[in-house]
Order: sequence, then C-alpha cells, then structure tokens
Amino acid sequence: MPDWLTHVLFAWALWNILSLKFNMPFIGIFITGSLLPDIDKVEVMIPFNAEPFLSVFHTPVGALITSGVISMAILRDGQAHVFLALGIGSISHLLLDLMVKSMDGRVMLFFPFSFVSYSLNIIAQKDFMFLYLAMAVFLMSFIVMRYHGDVKK
Ligand SMILES: [Zn+2]
Repeated sequence: MPDWLTHVLFAWALWNILSLKFNMPFIGIFITGSLLPDIDKVEVMIPFNAEPFLSVFHTPVGALITSGVISMAILRDGQAHVFLALGIGSISHLLLDLMVKSMDGRVMLFFPFSFVSYSLNIIAQKDFMFLYLAMAVFLMSFIVMRYHGDVKK
C-alpha cells in the first residue's frame, strides 16, 4: 500500500479536479474515505488473527458498504452526498493500491465472487515515486483550479 500521505494527496487532488465540475461540499469526508479501506490495519491492535475478516474492508464492495453504513449512521440529511464522498475516496484508495507491485496481488477486486487479489505491478511498495507523483498531482490540481478560476471570471 502507498503510505497514507500519498493517499491523502491524491484524494485532495482528485477532490480539487472534481470540484471544478461538480458541487463537492465534503473535502474532509472525501479524504477520510481515501483512508477508509485501510481500516483493516487495526488488526495490529487486536490480540487474535482477524485478518480474514478485516481484509473484506479492503475491497470495492467492502469499502462501499462501509461508506454506506457510516453515512447512514452519522447523518439524517445529506447521506447520499456523504456516501458519494466516502465511496469515491475509498475507490481512489483501492486504485492506488492496485498499482503496487505484488506477487500475490493487493486488492480483491471481485470480492465476494472471487478471493483472488490483483495488482497492476506498476510501482514498487517502497518506491518514493508514488509520493513524488502524489505531490506533483496535488500541486498541479491547485494550478488547474487557479487557472480555471481565472478563466471563469
Ligand atoms: Zn490500502
């Protein structure tokens, strides 16, 4: 998995770009969604092996169900917007994780129909390229927003 800073930078950049076209009110929730699939990392605090259960959260279906449950549990109004923010943020997380080189795969894309994990094998786990790329995309998104804002005036 890329580190959490990489996930946050990519998610923030994605939010910037999406906000040019759509009404995107929940940047904090969007960024929280980008970290949500790694909720399975709480296993380090659990005294027994909960990995088989927790790894479900690190799948597209698990991330969307978690986003739905959280949005329904927290809010009475605006649940759809919160669900979309959490869900898109979560999917961005899984897409980044999918790029990590791995012999045995990173993301169970087709869970619950298949338990096979997939990886696109693009960037090595410990390569800083992910973080540098995230920083570049993050900065570019602000430049695009600035330019877009000037064009609209
Ligand atoms: Zn992850």
